[in-house]
Amino acid sequence: MTSANTSDPISSAFDRQSLRPDCGNCFALCCTAFGFSRSADFALDKPAGTPCQNLDQDFSCTIHDSLRPRGFRGCTAFDCFGAGQNVSQQFFAGKSWLAEPDTKDDMFAAFKAARQLHEMLWYLVEAGRRTFDPEIAGQAERLRNTIEQALGGDLTKLLSTDAQDLHSHVRCILMEVSEEVRASYFAAGGEHLDAALKPGADLMSRNFRSRRLCGADLRGAYLIAADLRGSDLSGVDLLGADLRDARLEGADLSSALYLTQPQLNAAHGNQATRVPADLDVPSHWHNG
Ligand code: SF4
Repeated sequence: MTSANTSDPISSAFDRQSLRPDCGNCFALCCTAFGFSRSADFALDKPAGTPCQNLDQDFSCTIHDSLRPRGFRGCTAFDCFGAGQNVSQQFFAGKSWLAEPDTKDDMFAAFKAARQLHEMLWYLVEAGRRTFDPEIAGQAERLRNTIEQALGGDLTKLLSTDAQDLHSHVRCILMEVSEEVRASYFAAGGEHLDAALKPGADLMSRNFRSRRLCGADLRGAYLIAADLRGSDLSGVDLLGADLRDARLEGADLSSALYLTQPQLNAAHGNQATRVPADLDVPSHWHNG
């Protein structure tokens, strides 16, 4: 599958690179703004708006090298889509909540709002690249512009942005592009797909080893601990699919649709797993 557009259609401050986390320029907003409950992903309870007990004064994590064995697997899967550095540096001019505690509430609220918008941009960049329909590409471009204006304004504008409304528009574009992309795989003579492969399906622990799943719509599917080793997921819509503990060793996800870094981080894979060019092979895949 080739891309309709090899470069982003607009001159944008938010290309895919800037939608990746830059923790060195962030005031550890993910370790403070959000709350989490003790679970398989987090070893302790933490209320929202408070620093994690493992956070150091320089905003680094004191257990960074041993997060997974110490029960903080969720921290290795989380991704802010670049919202952390944007809020820290652009909206708060590089002044931390630690240096200026009065800004804390606003900064955390801005981070939560910006993360949603950054995530939408991540998907829209892909939709614009994958569609061959100039009209849809134009819609994606205009929506990107709207979101970027919210992110390029002041704090009041960011916090008053109707993310739900934007989300519904983004969702429509993503679904249209998904249909277009997946149709191209069926037109190319893809094998008859299992009827169970549908959006939101419960596919937990299912065996899809070495299967050709090209063009399947697995949006929102539960693929927890599914065996996808050696499978071909080209053109598979994985928007919001739950890949926790999915086995991806040797699988081809290089042209899967709407795959994100948190999804990959939550799964198991190896050096033979093919991932999209914009995403990284998670470090824990190297370490077993
Ligand atoms: S364990 Fe480390 S990475 Fe996770 S929230 Fe706490 S400080 Fe942040």
